[in-house]
Amino acid sequence: MQKSSRRQEEEVQVHSDLKYSHRLSLYDRPPTEDITLEEFETCAIDRLYVLSEIESCYARNRPFDELKKITKSQCEKHVPLDHNSAITKARDDQRRKDITGHFVLRLAFCRSEELRRRFVKAETTLFRIRYLDASERERRDFCKSGDFDWTQVDESEKSMYAPQLKAAVPDADAKEQYFKVKWTSVPDLVEKRRVFLKDGWAYVPSREQSSIVFQEFQTRLEKALQMTAKALPRMDEDTRLEPILANLSQGFIAGMGSEWGTSENTGEGIRAEMVDELAHKHFPMCMRNLHDNLKRDHHLKHFGRLQYGLFLKVLGLSIEEALAFWRRSFSGYTDDQFNKQYKYNIRHSYGLEGRRANYPAKSCQQILMNDQPGASDSHGCPYRHFSPNNLQTALLSMYSPQGLTEADLPEIMNMVRAEAYHVACTRVYEITHATQNVRKGDGIGSGETITHPNQYARASMALEHAAADGVKVEADGDIVMS
Ligand code: SF4
Repeated sequence: MQKSSRRQEEEVQVHSDLKYSHRLSLYDRPPTEDITLEEFETCAIDRLYVLSEIESCYARNRPFDELKKITKSQCEKHVPLDHNSAITKARDDQRRKDITGHFVLRLAFCRSEELRRRFVKAETTLFRIRYLDASERERRDFCKSGDFDWTQVDESEKSMYAPQLKAAVPDADAKEQYFKVKWTSVPDLVEKRRVFLKDGWAYVPSREQSSIVFQEFQTRLEKALQMTAKALPRMDEDTRLEPILANLSQGFIAGMGSEWGTSENTGEGIRAEMVDELAHKHFPMCMRNLHDNLKRDHHLKHFGRLQYGLFLKVLGLSIEEALAFWRRSFSGYTDDQFNKQYKYNIRHSYGLEGRRANYPAKSCQQILMNDQPGASDSHGCPYRHFSPNNLQTALLSMYSPQGLTEADLPEIMNMVRAEAYHVACTRVYEITHATQNVRKGDGIGSGETITHPNQYARASMALEHAAADGVKVEADGDIVMS
């Protein structure tokens, strides 16, 4: 037996006992096993990390190669999906997680036309990247299994239309295989005149088979989402799922931020008197705005204190230093007033009072979507909650010392208009760290988008530490000694 065919046979034997025999999926069968509520949520959140990064790539007009690289690295982190030939025992578990996450997100994203459109775009892109990454054999097996609505053109029909086929695909040779599909299934090929059309059928050469597969994926998903939307009111009775689904559907607006608790402290031993300098050098706009307001008014309202206080806690401010910082900042109050009105809340946020919970810092998603600020509030995200004029003025006043100029504003405002607020924030990070070797498109490393204010501050502080230690952090995260 030839070595390669023996290997293929072994592969078939190894995978014949897999429940999910294909890595690629058209997601036409929902999972039927029982899953826990925790798994329901985790599978969806992990998938959403990947999809929201795809959305961010579109908002930044990244070329397809960059989008592919970023998506693959996000997939490895959150939704790994090994090829059949990979040496791993976890294939079934990975595929189950992939399918479960997809179906949970259908529930979250079927609720409006806009959410459906964005979900279909991100999911079709993910599918396309995985398909292009698959081996010939994997694609062939997948196409055979997919119940696609196409017919292979036989030799007699091929010779009957040989001149027309040749005109549509001039470089095809006589061996080229063709598939007949409804012309509406391949609008991109029809538009580019890359297929022969006859009686409503498009004759698609095998090399363009992927176009049919992608279109089929998209069409099926669009229909499935509409059906899910119709079935959704019945699910609203389940009060356990509703908050989870509502939360998930916000993932596209602000990206998926991981929780940042005190275990991810950004800097060790931050003292109260250091905060002002850190704010000017390393804070994202939301925190810089709170800091500036606190300095100006010697006061912040409840949600502002909460947003800023938790951020500073995770940044590395101990409870003693936090009390010192807030006491000094509230300079118009007597000790007695401060102790009665504010000390308890500060200790509470450190888990030292009340429920003694160790509250994490708020993510971009929470800041963007919850507790909308009123006219006299200073919490929230300036990219979303400031008027366009105020935002531009504030951007220049806060970040021109770090290199942001008027010429940068149109690009940032375009992102804001497209409601890609965290992408605009990422672009500001890149501009203000250009002197530290951060280039356009690098994000906070490997092209990643900001999803948490502490992530912004940590990345900025890490660059400064690396420069002080005489090392250079390259965009791909490599450290180079200088
Ligand atoms: Fe803050 Fe996130 Fe808004 Fe940036 S995008 S300003 S980090 S809330």
